[in-house]
Amino acid sequence: MEIDSRSKLKKARIVVVKVGSSVVCDRDNVSTGRLRALADQIGRLRHRGYVTVTVSSGAVAAGARKLGLRSKPTTLTLKQACAAAGQVSLMTAWEKALATVDLRCAQILLTADDLSDRRRFLNARNTIVSLVEMGVVPVVNENDTVAVDELKVGDNDTLGAMVASLIEADVFINLTDIDGLYDSNPRQNPKAKIIGEVDKVDQGVLELAGDDGGAWGTGGMRTKVRAAGRLSDRGIASLVVNGNARDSLIKVIEGENIGTFFKPAPHRLGARKHWLAFAARPKGRLFIDIGAAEALVERGKSLLPGGIKTIEGLFDVGDAVTVVLDGQADRQLGVGLVNYSAPEIKLIIGQPSSQIADILGYSHSDEVIHRDNLVVFD
Ligand code: GLU
Repeated sequence: MEIDSRSKLKKARIVVVKVGSSVVCDRDNVSTGRLRALADQIGRLRHRGYVTVTVSSGAVAAGARKLGLRSKPTTLTLKQACAAAGQVSLMTAWEKALATVDLRCAQILLTADDLSDRRRFLNARNTIVSLVEMGVVPVVNENDTVAVDELKVGDNDTLGAMVASLIEADVFINLTDIDGLYDSNPRQNPKAKIIGEVDKVDQGVLELAGDDGGAWGTGGMRTKVRAAGRLSDRGIASLVVNGNARDSLIKVIEGENIGTFFKPAPHRLGARKHWLAFAARPKGRLFIDIGAAEALVERGKSLLPGGIKTIEGLFDVGDAVTVVLDGQADRQLGVGLVNYSAPEIKLIIGQPSSQIADILGYSHSDEVIHRDNLVVFD
């Protein structure tokens, strides 16, 4: 079901709700009152036939309060210690809140690695789907205690969008402590207004978001807008809404004009290509010539060995690599899965595909990256 306007939100079936730290925690602790209010709405949605998957932040914030810290921890070790201590409080609070509306919950902790490996990715999906089928509400968070910085998704806006894509949700609702995306900075301009609808997340929209991470959250409005943009490419609608406002979740689903609605793109990216573009972790780079770049970008062709100039990285057959125009290393053309390993590609670089078998002694395809396994960026 394509939810391309607010009036169609009622027709959604699978809803991913991300709850930010500023909603989960108040000044002193995990806010039982707020979680109850959310659980109550999740329960009401369930009675109306909606399935809800929750992505909940708040482990670091709850842990910091539990361990007596007065502000956001800055070192990795301290953040991880807080996450370990806080995740228990967070889940206990969710479990109690959901029990008041006779719902059970289950904890799912994910790392970027779980999402970048296609098999683990599909496995995570199966787990979430079976829980949902049993009427359980999955509560997802990043496994902050084990993920080191460079292997992290990093913020739950992005994680939430990945989960929405993973389970092919109809809509992603990002609950935070402000009313939506403003047309200018509300702290500087008292006349700033909420943008009710965003057609496409472009540079201008990203700039409106600023880059303030807030007192306890990680990404601020920027990661929210970026996550919405990714989901829009994928053909999934999303919203940024004030989760502390009364019944905001229900109101959104009923199509009320609150928060910011991000329209899905008309040409949706398939599930696999979305995973390739945003979850797969490239293991190397292929530098290609201008002719090959045009064939890929303008004519929708596959990448042949003849168009490759140099390669970088140690990767195997089936790994993801970034495709770059030679001489413009900062401009990614796309990401794709290779049919040949790095040592094999080194031998066939610049050669016509008809020579692959002669050079390697075998040829399992004419293309180094087949079009079906390639995502080209705008
Ligand atoms: N995973 C973090 C936590 O539970 C939140 C990350 C974020 O704020 O986006 O505290």
